[in-house]
Amino acid sequence: MFETDASRKTLFAEVLLPVPVPRLFTYRVPYNLNDHVRVGQRVIVQFGDRKIVTGLIFNITEDVPKDFEAKSILELLDEFPSVNELQLKLFQWMADYYLCTLGEVMNAALPAGLKLSSESMVQIHPAFSLEESTLNFSEKEVMLLKRLEQGTMTYTEIAKFLGVKFIFSILKSLSGKEAIILFEEVKEKFKPKTEKRIRLNPDFNDAKALEDVFENIASKPKQEAILLKYLQEVPVLQSPAANKTGMSRKDLLNGDVSGSSLATLMRSGVLEEFETVVPRFGFAETTEAPPILLSEEQERTQYEIIKSFEHHAATLLHGVTGSGKTEIYINLIRKALESQTQVLYMLPEIALTTQIVQRLKKIFGTSMGVYHSRFSDNERVEVWNGILSGKFKFVIGVRSSIFLPFDNLGLIIVDEEHDASYKQQEPAPRYNARDVGMILAQLHHAKVLLGSATPSVETYFHAKQNKYGLVKLEKRFGEANLPEIVLANMGQERKMKTIKGEFSRLLLLRIEETLARKEQVIIFQNRRGYSPMMSCEDCGWVPKCVNCAVSLTYHQYRHVLVCHYCGYKETVPQQCPACTSTRIKTVGYGTEKLEEELNVFFPEAKIQRMDLDTTRSKTGYESILAQFENGETDILVGTQMVTKGLDFDKVSLVGVFNADRMMHFPDFRSYERAYQLITQVSGRAGRRARQGQVVIQTSNPEHPILNYILNHDFESFYQREISDRQQHDYPPFTRLIEIVTRHTDKKVCREASQKLAGMLRHHLPAVRIMGPGEPMIAKIRNQYLMSILLKMVRGKSDLPSIKLHIQNSINTLSAEKAFRNVRFIVDVDPV
Ligand SMILES: [Zn+2]
Ligand SMILES: [Zn+2]
Repeated sequence: MFETDASRKTLFAEVLLPVPVPRLFTYRVPYNLNDHVRVGQRVIVQFGDRKIVTGLIFNITEDVPKDFEAKSILELLDEFPSVNELQLKLFQWMADYYLCTLGEVMNAALPAGLKLSSESMVQIHPAFSLEESTLNFSEKEVMLLKRLEQGTMTYTEIAKFLGVKFIFSILKSLSGKEAIILFEEVKEKFKPKTEKRIRLNPDFNDAKALEDVFENIASKPKQEAILLKYLQEVPVLQSPAANKTGMSRKDLLNGDVSGSSLATLMRSGVLEEFETVVPRFGFAETTEAPPILLSEEQERTQYEIIKSFEHHAATLLHGVTGSGKTEIYINLIRKALESQTQVLYMLPEIALTTQIVQRLKKIFGTSMGVYHSRFSDNERVEVWNGILSGKFKFVIGVRSSIFLPFDNLGLIIVDEEHDASYKQQEPAPRYNARDVGMILAQLHHAKVLLGSATPSVETYFHAKQNKYGLVKLEKRFGEANLPEIVLANMGQERKMKTIKGEFSRLLLLRIEETLARKEQVIIFQNRRGYSPMMSCEDCGWVPKCVNCAVSLTYHQYRHVLVCHYCGYKETVPQQCPACTSTRIKTVGYGTEKLEEELNVFFPEAKIQRMDLDTTRSKTGYESILAQFENGETDILVGTQMVTKGLDFDKVSLVGVFNADRMMHFPDFRSYERAYQLITQVSGRAGRRARQGQVVIQTSNPEHPILNYILNHDFESFYQREISDRQQHDYPPFTRLIEIVTRHTDKKVCREASQKLAGMLRHHLPAVRIMGPGEPMIAKIRNQYLMSILLKMVRGKSDLPSIKLHIQNSINTLSAEKAFRNVRFIVDVDPV
């Protein structure tokens, strides 16, 4: 009786949908689901008249919605929640802090594979065969599987084919039996990873048959050894199911047994080879974890970090490049795992740090998940579910890994915390994973370790203020010294006429010496393409993008002009459209031109280029890096990709181009960026035995920032920078919010921005509001942009109420007919 009463209760679920509407949607829970619904489960609901979407149960209530009749939940997708309550709290915090909707956060958080929608497609699982399957299928399921064997179908097609309205329970059942795969049409189709493995022929899978086999091969010790090894590793007699996965050929042949005996066993039909689907992160070979030997310096640092965690939730590890921070991380990760908590280790870009990932895999084996921007959606879902199931206790990942379903984090490491890649620029939520990591840690009562050789000014400030702990590691690991940095004075060399192409005599000389010693060179130029622009020598005309307010970049390889903002391409004009002159020359230089010149100056050397153009394919980075690591490449030319995470013993020279441009970029962070980039790329030179060399080409050799870099003097650099920030009211003394308005009509865009600034000034007299003004690039993809910047004094501003005013003002403006199509993009803590 009691049960009936409970199931008679009418429940409502407040569901979070992946739509940019700033509220939850209420649905009725069907009675039969009353005992099954939980917060964090995924549900299928109807949104609008036709669309069917996946939502998340955010809340369960008995309150009856007042002014409308709630539709029912169509299906419950999860038996157990896919998202836990800590995550929902984090989502809510992000929506509030970054001024976006919960739906936008959810969209960023869930891998597409967890978000079914009416646009999704269904295909038969490549490893599935209806004839061979021993599972039970309903009549409808068999009908559908037979049809799917002829090709993929959309949800709508399936509903029509089966003649039923709601197909999700059928699809869920089939997907659970691994008979079908659901995917988004635009995405690549799921390709399971397969592997050839060896197993015992099932005919021999009983004690008597095996006895006979052993009798037959009694005089063949090698065959006997292999069969024994198999039976030791795969106890088929105790559990016949173990034979299903068999073992890999490599493992079976591990040791000195020869391959020919295995072949004989297979020919005689005792063992057989088969192909099977393997999980992408399973079966990893876990080798015995090698002990990490810390230097005295590292030992002390580790101790200080642990001490610091006693008083601080977050601690900054400021360690010079090459000081061996990774070993300390490994030890701390182990300690956290030993105390039964989860660990998240974030890196700005994993593709560039395959070295670290491989090393950690060897130590942490299958308990470590990797969450990666270049992973397919299937791989992301596998990691997500691996955390839910407890398989992965430790994840190394990029910024989006803060969304994973951790329920018991003990430690979060944010490596290279200064890196701008932690900030998501587009689309919303425009979050900074380092800062969100702090909140995530608070929710879990976990500790945060921020690591960098060039900490951001904000982070260092908080460490100095004792808001974070501060631990320093000032010596390089082993005997290595910090690189020797010298300046190539381009003004002087120009006078002396010693510059060849774009190269100073000093740099060319050093490259020659390095190559003669059979060592490697990295050349850093933060601009891809051949040259940033072309220009008419007679009238100064410059080809510009038709969609954006930028000049086009010349790419010699394809002989075209390209816009780096929208991808627009144009052929190079034969003559100037303004004055008909044919004297059109290139101005400036990018990585492509440097590569070309190096090929002329060093025809014997093998030169490779690493930038966006050469690394578009999924394995682009890996192959370029592998060749460099093997020593096949002598000189690597690249954009800021070469500044990150490369750790190669044979690199002893780094050349830095265009330091001047980096420093004079019109942004309050330009000195900081220049300091970080040049120091980071310099740190690639000279590890282990030899002291590296760095040559910076500059026309401003007196510039104080260069001097700090030369002397590895972070402290003085910081002092100068922080007093500058204080004087000009920039972070960390203030908080910034940028609001960009965007519209195809310049006038409308300008008016909307002016009106918004007026409203904000009226409502928020205490906030300094700058603009509207044109951003550096005032038009992108045929959309005009205007920008407003809000400066709020840190600790003295009521941020929630300011944000509320911003939201209300935007809502009011968006409701005006003239501004209906204007986009307002709010960026909290812009980078
Ligand atoms: Zn001209
Ligand atoms: Zn463009």
